[in-house]
Amino acid sequence: MENLLISACLLGIECRYDGKSVKSVDIEALKEKYNLIPMCPEIYGGLTTPRCPSERVGERVMMKDGTDVTENYKRGALIAYKMCCIFNCKTALLKERSPSCGCWQIYDGSFSGRLTDGDGCTAELLKSKGINVIGESHIKKIM
Ligand code: SF4
Repeated sequence: MENLLISACLLGIECRYDGKSVKSVDIEALKEKYNLIPMCPEIYGGLTTPRCPSERVGERVMMKDGTDVTENYKRGALIAYKMCCIFNCKTALLKERSPSCGCWQIYDGSFSGRLTDGDGCTAELLKSKGINVIGESHIKKIM
């Protein structure tokens, strides 16, 4: 079976900024087709759970309290890519709208709930390396 990199929070792991998960995929159906390789780039980047929410602001990533966490996000993205290489993952199923995992649309940096076109740091790096990045609402594309 093919290995699939997947945002851990989608599997019910409580690693989100608010200490919760967002279990929103059919895990059993996924397991029939893929070996699941869970990862959380924000944890890999050295952030704690729970943590202050962050959004991308241009090339930086900022916490709502003004802390610049860009380097944490970059480190987490690199480790996520390293995991793709180790496990030979050609596809990543990532949590939409996250400043790390979000693909195609993310929050716009104003902490007002507004969305803008763009990728989270990890989704951006994986795409640039040729990984097929899919958001959870498009899961049918890989099933
Ligand atoms: Fe989920 Fe990704 Fe955020 Fe971790 S960084 S909590 S895997 S969306």
